[in-house]
Amino acid sequence: AQIDALDIVVLALLLVGSVAYFTKGTYWGVPKDPYASSYANGSAAKAGKTRNILEKMDESGKNCVVFYGSQTGTAEDYASRLAKEGSSRFGLKTMVADLEDYDYENLDEFPEDKIAFFVLATYGEGEPTDNAVEFYEFINGESPTFSKGEEEKPLGNLKYVTFGLGNNTYEHYNSMVRRVDAALRKLGADRIGAAGEGDDGAGTMEEDFLAWKEPMWEALTEKMGLEEREAVYEPVFSVEEKPELSADDDTVYLGEPNKNHLEGKQKGPYNAHNPYIAPIAESKELFTVKDRNCLHMEIDVSGSNITYTTGDHVAIWPTNAGVEVDRFIRVLGLEENRHRVINVKPIEVTAKVPFPTPTTYDAVVRYHMEICGPVSRQFVSTLAAFAPNEKAKAEMTKLGTDADYFKSKISSQYLNIAQVLHSVCPDQPWSAVPFSCLIEGINKIQPRYYSISSSSYVQPKKISITAVVESIRIPGATHIVKGVTTNYLLALKQKQHGEPHPDPHGLTYAITGPRNKYDGIHVPVHVRHSNFKLPSDSAKPIIMVGPGTGVAPFRGFVQERAEQAKRGEKVGPTILFYGCRRRDEDWLYKDEWDSFKASLGENLTIFNAFSRESPGKKVYVQHLMKQNAKLINDLLTKKSNFYVCGDAAHMAREVSDMLAEIIADERGVDLKKGEEVVKNMRSSGAYQEDVW
Ligand code: FAD
Repeated sequence: AQIDALDIVVLALLLVGSVAYFTKGTYWGVPKDPYASSYANGSAAKAGKTRNILEKMDESGKNCVVFYGSQTGTAEDYASRLAKEGSSRFGLKTMVADLEDYDYENLDEFPEDKIAFFVLATYGEGEPTDNAVEFYEFINGESPTFSKGEEEKPLGNLKYVTFGLGNNTYEHYNSMVRRVDAALRKLGADRIGAAGEGDDGAGTMEEDFLAWKEPMWEALTEKMGLEEREAVYEPVFSVEEKPELSADDDTVYLGEPNKNHLEGKQKGPYNAHNPYIAPIAESKELFTVKDRNCLHMEIDVSGSNITYTTGDHVAIWPTNAGVEVDRFIRVLGLEENRHRVINVKPIEVTAKVPFPTPTTYDAVVRYHMEICGPVSRQFVSTLAAFAPNEKAKAEMTKLGTDADYFKSKISSQYLNIAQVLHSVCPDQPWSAVPFSCLIEGINKIQPRYYSISSSSYVQPKKISITAVVESIRIPGATHIVKGVTTNYLLALKQKQHGEPHPDPHGLTYAITGPRNKYDGIHVPVHVRHSNFKLPSDSAKPIIMVGPGTGVAPFRGFVQERAEQAKRGEKVGPTILFYGCRRRDEDWLYKDEWDSFKASLGENLTIFNAFSRESPGKKVYVQHLMKQNAKLINDLLTKKSNFYVCGDAAHMAREVSDMLAEIIADERGVDLKKGEEVVKNMRSSGAYQEDVW
């Protein structure tokens, strides 16, 4: 493949000794490495960092940048896939860019012969993802100031492509991509192809993406005069085994998230790039039934500078289950080499390795890859080329091209990647799959968020969580889908209590972590601050609706108000609508509510909906809201805040609809007006949601 002089200069500077890689001609970048700041070696790497995207594209010889706004990693993954495809199918010189890494004043100088993609997730109430806030505010601002100054259509030269990731169960479906698209067009930019939208709510994200991208590529090839060629797999990373190093060497990462952790001196700030290894002070089971689990855990952050306020989220960094790590390693033919030390390097300059190296295959699979997650049809297509035999190749190709077949065989069965490969070819390992291809095609493991169920006023250094353990039986399938994080937490709780491991599926975990650094029951965490907040004036009434684990933040809210009452502060009416199946099975914190009541007296009212206690009649929180319509309306007229937490797919919308209905009925106005009142409450912050 051809390379240009500029590439050589830059690469030579940054990757001395890697000359062999240059000839491979891959011009694809992966997302910003979250660990880079902690292990990038010295100022050379930092000095090379520019916030000027045009300069970056020029110096690395790119003509296509794929920006992403991502919260949970899906948008980031789609961005990487688009960049990869643009390079291998159309010869574009692509790079992926985290929106927060660049400034946008010079977008008006974006060259006509280059292209920008925007892959944008919408978060929460139609908000940008954390990494997209600044870009969003800039582009959507009254009149963004560009470097060339006043022009009516400052972005007249910019050609762009957009895809949004949203969830139709939220009111502001895909609003991020819609608003950015509208803003760009208003500024004169020229969108190529349709503005794509994927719907997680309908479960069609992947198919929406696949259906959108083909006509988009067609439009793009026409506009930019590109020629499609046969896509040949080109590795993005070089994976070099290092026989001279042993997994015991103290320079080898065995799952440590960054250099500080490797050196055994973790230090803050703790954030999405740097977890705190926190002791679990206490753990217990909240359900009283045998086949379902809900965990209460107290995470001790007193050894760190971590702070939180009531209503925040804590992120738990999971470890994959041993049985899944073993399956993956076995199916991919890595068994003998699993503890070999490997050095993973980007083949070209904008690519970043999504974990620190040198490391081992085992550590990468166990701590860094989302090996249990859903499999994409596109990835199955890519892997067809590396099938162990022709039959398996044909089957992979069919799965990759036939959406219905793929659905019936794979997605409806919730198979993970190793299960897919094993089912397609049970008797031979998939040893020909390049490890780079796995790093590219499998998402980086994501920390999972939990609504903190304690009050920072009461226990500022102890964070409670309330987590229901995911265990899904798929009709017709032989296996049970086990949630990655919650089953890991369950194992930690069992270890803490010296309980025998009762899991019939043989889930075991490397519970003491890399080099036993998590021993003594520790878990890596960080805190994410949220806007889900109690009113600053405790005398204000509040209404909370939180069935199931949706009660988590409200335990924190009530704990806080009970303490305020105890300390003689004035506390307003505090109303909770809670729901579960049966009072003797899954009533969360059943005994605690009485003690809160002792402090709050008649200021605390709890309405419990037990959905499975009356045969033939399921009672849910919405029903109890309806029964208490007058009380709700009265409190709203007294400036009560209204909070909803829990299931986003159904409950949150039904509660919102019910509130509109209550307002309409009680105030004698039509439903449309009721809906408008709820809408206004949302925008003023009087109606807050914490849903997932
Ligand atoms: P995962 O492994 O992530 O699996 C989750 C689901 O993904 C599965 O149930 C299944 O439906 C699907 N899935 C997994 N693998 C596949 C596959 N191969 N194919 C197809 N589908 C698959 N949860 C709580 O219990 N309490 C809380 O307080 C809480 N608060 C939250 C707050 C926020 C802001 C958010 C975003 C989420 C919150 N959650 C809470 C949910 C929590 O973050 C996790 O999503 C949940 O615990 C499941 O995590 P897991 O790793 O155990 O399951």
